[in-house]
Amino acid sequence: MPKATLNVKLLDVTENALALIYSACRQCYAEEFAGDIFDKIKDDDKKQAAFIKKIIASGHESPLEHVKFTFAIEGVSRALTHQLVRHRIASFSQQSQRYVKENDFDYIIPSSIEKNSEAKNEFEKLMATIQQSYTKLLTFLGQDNLSGEAANQDARFVLPQAVETKIIVTMNCRELLHFFKHRCCSRAQWEIRNLAEKLLADCKSRLPLLFSQAGAKCVTLGFCPEGARFCCGKFPVKEEAEGGKVAK
Ligand SMILES: Cc1cc2nc3c(=O)[nH]c(=O)nc-3n(C[C@H](O)[C@H](O)[C@H](O)COP(=O)(O)OP(=O)(O)OC[C@H]3O[C@@H](n4cnc5c(N)ncnc54)[C@H](O)[C@@H]3O)c2cc1C
Repeated sequence: MPKATLNVKLLDVTENALALIYSACRQCYAEEFAGDIFDKIKDDDKKQAAFIKKIIASGHESPLEHVKFTFAIEGVSRALTHQLVRHRIASFSQQSQRYVKENDFDYIIPSSIEKNSEAKNEFEKLMATIQQSYTKLLTFLGQDNLSGEAANQDARFVLPQAVETKIIVTMNCRELLHFFKHRCCSRAQWEIRNLAEKLLADCKSRLPLLFSQAGAKCVTLGFCPEGARFCCGKFPVKEEAEGGKVAK
């Protein structure tokens, strides 16, 4: 029952990403067939980059949907994945608590709890108790001839949100930019923010042209749209950025 830590592996990125985005953008404005445009442009990185920058700046984002990133993620809590799967323009495959027994489940400890010895002790005691109850429930259900997923699916009702889970997520670049705007913000919960920062680092290294300026909303706007109450201070709030007074 050890403590689990975040691990992310980038499994796949659409090949010829920039040529694809370029061809999709060009098809909107060109008489020529995108199939021919793609073949001609495939090796001209400079031309692709210049055109794509202009297109993104204009807000024409749908061509970005043709390029996808797939990540395998482990060492995260069910509390995190409950938030992650709220992003509807993405595909998910998550480890099942019906088909996979939580016999010796790992869990995530928030750092606030970990650094407080009393809180940590209480937390770890509770995890051990839950593990025992879960295992006992499987035994009791077994006495009623319930086993496998039929038993797991009911015993899991006692599992905590802290329980470790594994998930594969695929998002297209437009959705990734949207995800980073919300989840890299200091207002996002710490665990999903850590994950978002990790995914952003992978995206930046694979497709810097699209992601080097990506991040929380403030990073792209140059000001914080959350208002004075929620602003973390990295950027001025909107009124300040516009030279006005800030209501606190
Ligand atoms: C700081 C923070 C706090 C939050 N607190 C809460 C909370 O207290 N309670 C809670 O329930 N949720 C909360 N959420 C979750 C939030 O409300 C969203 O469900 C989640 O962030 C997914 O965002 P989304 O819908 O924009 O993204 P996606 O589902 O990824 O959608 C991307 C975009 O596609 C468009 N879109 C998708 N589906 C539709 C649709 N059906 N109709 C119209 N347009 C659509 C929208 O423009 C949307 O922004 C919180 C999120 C954050 C970042």
